[in-house]
Amino acid sequence: MLGNLSRWLRFFGFDAYYVKRDINDDELLKIAEKENYILITRDKDLIIRAKKRNLKIISIKSLNLDDQLKHVLKDIKIDENEILSKCSICNSKLIKINKQDFKDKIPIKIYNNMNDFYFCNFCDKIYWKGSHYDKIIKKIFTIKNGD
Ligand SMILES: [Zn+2]
Repeated sequence: MLGNLSRWLRFFGFDAYYVKRDINDDELLKIAEKENYILITRDKDLIIRAKKRNLKIISIKSLNLDDQLKHVLKDIKIDENEILSKCSICNSKLIKINKQDFKDKIPIKIYNNMNDFYFCNFCDKIYWKGSHYDKIIKKIFTIKNGD
């Protein structure tokens, strides 16, 4: 249910894993404890169980993405250097690349206009600080200033 939220948290540079329902709560709590993760969830049972274990939890009530992000960002802060440092699909660290090496994979207009490109080794996906980056910055601004 919070897939969109976790995708945006990755855009902001957070190490965000989206847990699908194929992992059970026991396992999830164990991992969160071991890795010192913050659990972000709408699941009331899970919140109660996580509290018993003294895990860090952010409980989400709203269904609105901006409200969810605003709520999360009260507790965790964005490091602006980390924005767009992670793949939004798989969470891997992006690698800065020379665009010349990837010329055949980048739309020509973007290739000609941009210089900073990043690559995900696992998803074979290229990122750049173009409209996507602007969208992220705008989102952060909206969350920080909107009410
Ligand atoms: Zn990836």
